[in-house]
Amino acid sequence: MASGDVLLRIEHLKVYFPVKNAIGRIRSYVKAVNDISLSLFRGETYGLVGETGCGKSTLGRAVIRLERAAGGEIYFDNRDILKLNSKEMLKLRPKMQMVFQDPYSSLNPRKRVGDTLTEVLEIHNIGAKEERPEIVLDVLERVGLLPEHYYRFPNEFSGGQRQRIGLARAFLLRPRLIICDEPVSALDVSIRAQIINLLKDLQESEKLAYLFIAHDLSIVRYISSRIGVMYLGCLVEEAPAERLFENPLHPYTRALLSASPSIDVESPRKRERLQGELPSPIDPPPGCPFHTRCSRAAAACRQYQPRLKEMEKNQKVACILYE
Ligand code: SF4
Repeated sequence: MASGDVLLRIEHLKVYFPVKNAIGRIRSYVKAVNDISLSLFRGETYGLVGETGCGKSTLGRAVIRLERAAGGEIYFDNRDILKLNSKEMLKLRPKMQMVFQDPYSSLNPRKRVGDTLTEVLEIHNIGAKEERPEIVLDVLERVGLLPEHYYRFPNEFSGGQRQRIGLARAFLLRPRLIICDEPVSALDVSIRAQIINLLKDLQESEKLAYLFIAHDLSIVRYISSRIGVMYLGCLVEEAPAERLFENPLHPYTRALLSASPSIDVESPRKRERLQGELPSPIDPPPGCPFHTRCSRAAAACRQYQPRLKEMEKNQKVACILYE
């Protein structure tokens, strides 16, 4: 795709959380996102994978400024959103929405769903007052809910229906980008496919881009056009979805795919075992962040951190073996 099709460009993003000692002094930082650069094209789905604690959700939250960046730039439609003031950000907010794993926690249990959604339109000053219920009913229908659901309370819905409400809330504002943070991992397997297909249908009709954060690799493979693999706050590999599954290069990607029961790794050559635990992001290992678990680590890997390098077919990898 042409660079003009880029909707979101993240440059050297860092998100650090302070760790305080007993008397409240900052003694170190959790480096949750540690110098990540990536781009999303208009209308595409970029899958972000990695173990729990690798920083993928933090990255998603930082993109819509739910987390404060410690450094770097985030360009949305060529504007650096980290430089926007809160008024400018409020104006931009409808264009960038987030869908969470548990939509229930963000719904007011004492409000009818129709009222909650109408309020979203009010906050963003969308539509005339008398038009708003009609707009809400239209979006409810598009996410597969019924007109009578407008009058129900959140506790009257199943998990799948609640996620549809979460999507309705995001879609009401006609966004260009939705950060989907584990949107189906709390749902029954039978419901997951319905929600994923709904996301795909809505993407097609609205030309939306998704940053799709999940740990289920088969779902990420199904929905994504490109995939980024995160490890300990760093992006270690990026490739078109099928390329990544057919030809994983980074030892961590290979181990991650091999460890997933739902993924058929064709060749035993590609199998690598994932050993040990994820190191603490408070004190990440020097050199390559994966060297403490990598079966192919050499002495140089402890001293030198490889940068992402462009390989064939739009694949990028950060590993000394490919330098
Ligand atoms: Fe393994 Fe070294 Fe490559 Fe890191 S740089 S993934 S430790 S071989």
